Amino acid sequence: MVDFYHVAEKLMIPDLQDMIMGCLLRFQKAQNQLPSLEFIRRAYEETTENGKLRLYAVFALHYLMKQTDRNEEIWPLDEISAIIQNCDGVCKDFLLLSMKQETADPRNLGVCTYHMHGLEDICPVTGKRSGGDRKPASGDGERPAKR
Ligand SMILES: [Zn+2]
Repeated sequence: MVDFYHVAEKLMIPDLQDMIMGCLLRFQKAQNQLPSLEFIRRAYEETTENGKLRLYAVFALHYLMKQTDRNEEIWPLDEISAIIQNCDGVCKDFLLLSMKQETADPRNLGVCTYHMHGLEDICPVTGKRSGGDRKPASGDGERPAKR
C-alpha cells in the first residue's frame, strides 16, 4: 500500500492517492486493523510530507500510544520509540498532534481527512464535497484570511 501511494505521489495523481486512502481505511476498518510499525516507518521514509498517508500514520501512532491495552508484541514500545527518534518528521508531527488534538481512532475520522483534494472540491471517492467530513490537518486552519 505504501509503494502504491508512493507511485501515485510521484506520478502526481492526487485522485489516485485519495482512492488509495479510501481503500486503506475501508480495509483496516473491516479487518479491525491499525497500521503496523513497519507501515508507519515506511510511510514516513517513502512518501512526502505533503501526502496524507503520513497523516494517517501519525494519527495511528498517536492513537496506539493512548491505548492502555496496546498489544506489546505487535507494537513494542522500544520500536515505537525508535521510529519517533529515527524517522524524519515523525517526532515533530507526533508532538504537534499531541498538543493540538484529542486522541481519536484514525479509522473513524472522515475519509476526506486523508485526501489531497481541497475542501471545496468534489471528492473522487465519495463524489461529494468534503464539507464536514474532514478533520483539519495540521496547517489547514492556519491559512491567511481572504480579503
Ligand atoms: Zn475526499
